[in-house]
Amino acid sequence: MSNTFEALGTSEGDLHLSNGGTDVFFDVLTLAGCALAGSAWESNLVLYFADGHRLGRGTDGFDLNELPWTANWPAEKAFLLRVLDLALTRHGWDLLAYHPPFALDYLSRYRAMVDGWPAPIPVRTPAPRPDWTVPPPPEHLERCPKHALYNGMLGCRLCDLSLQPLPE
Ligand SMILES: [Zn+2]
Repeated sequence: MSNTFEALGTSEGDLHLSNGGTDVFFDVLTLAGCALAGSAWESNLVLYFADGHRLGRGTDGFDLNELPWTANWPAEKAFLLRVLDLALTRHGWDLLAYHPPFALDYLSRYRAMVDGWPAPIPVRTPAPRPDWTVPPPPEHLERCPKHALYNGMLGCRLCDLSLQPLPE
């Protein structure tokens, strides 16, 4: 089973990750994102990482164009790049219960894809896009006392033992 991260329109190729690799990718993005998110849109993006890939696991595709970008998308893209840059500094990795040997590679490849992505392209999404200008429910932004991550809908992802990745 694998998951494809795409950014239709980018000058870079796709990123293909195993389910375990996808969990690691969302772990390190959540660690960085929870340290940076300020606006409603930013908090919603980080909650998307925090809750990401935890229900209905299987072969998934994640196209950057499917995110609910607004007219303010250049600032939203800049925020995503800031999250990736902080994650590339291994932010919070001392909290991980495992060693992520490939995460820097995933992050640098995804950063290049996002950086080379010119603008949102209208794409079909399986469900209507949520409105990320609306602040998330406050309880979703409560933080795990151990990891300081958003609890999201499903609880802190680093406390979720079912997400402990298998060795790759
Ligand atoms: Zn936790």
